Amino acid sequence: MSLIVLDNITTVLVHTSHPGNIGSSARAMKTMGLSNLTLVHPQIYPDAEANALASGAEDVLESARIVPTLEQALSGASVVFGCSARKRGIRMQELDARSAAKLAVDAAVNGKVAFVHGTERTGLTNEELELCQFLVTIPANPEYSSLNLAAAVQVLSYELRMEALSRGEPAESDEPHIPASVEDLERFFEHLEQVLDLIGFLGDRVSTKLMRRLRRMYQRAMPDEREVNILRGILTETEIAVRGRGQR
Ligand code: SAH
Repeated sequence: MSLIVLDNITTVLVHTSHPGNIGSSARAMKTMGLSNLTLVHPQIYPDAEANALASGAEDVLESARIVPTLEQALSGASVVFGCSARKRGIRMQELDARSAAKLAVDAAVNGKVAFVHGTERTGLTNEELELCQFLVTIPANPEYSSLNLAAAVQVLSYELRMEALSRGEPAESDEPHIPASVEDLERFFEHLEQVLDLIGFLGDRVSTKLMRRLRRMYQRAMPDEREVNILRGILTETEIAVRGRGQR
């Protein structure tokens, strides 16, 4: 399923040193429905290894923007998330990947959003992070928290997809829910009261209060016509069963 909101989100890879990581990132993105990739001054690119590891996601590589500076990569973006394995000494708002995805999907409804990833060995520099509003960390094992670049892209792309999926995508059935008519429900309530009386559930008690509660409960459920028919069917079968028992 394609999720339109994800089209407003770009993954930016800064000074990537291994072309294989660029290919694997493209693949990671495509599996989650993301397609915008920007490469800032990649060290070796294009390269056969990038294509080999993209394996089916070459379209993401082919449409990738290649720019010399991070400033250029971010032109037009209104919200920018910088990803890092470690907390940095600089003052900026820190978020985990899931909270960042929530904020990003909110922002992507009306504007452009970017997730920026640093170079493999050293990550983003403080100057690069200064161009970002938020610092995003995947809460990994504190003793070994640095993910492979493409693995980090995968986790973030997954969180973005999950967040986009959780927003008002059509439910499993596209059939509109049409509640049964008041008349249908009234006939059901009458029938219900008769059967409750028949099986001795009402006994000597005044049924008004009980019926009012039951009515409220069924009204809250807003059954459709088919569901009311099922309920009526159960009542009819109950009548038959009770009468049959009486005759025995
Ligand atoms: N020591 C570097 C690791 C670089 S790994 C650092 O502290 O960031 C290359 C890139 O992968 C990082 O720049 C970041 O974009 C991403 N990355 C790796 N591990 C991550 C994590 N735990 N949380 C968020 N991003 C991570």
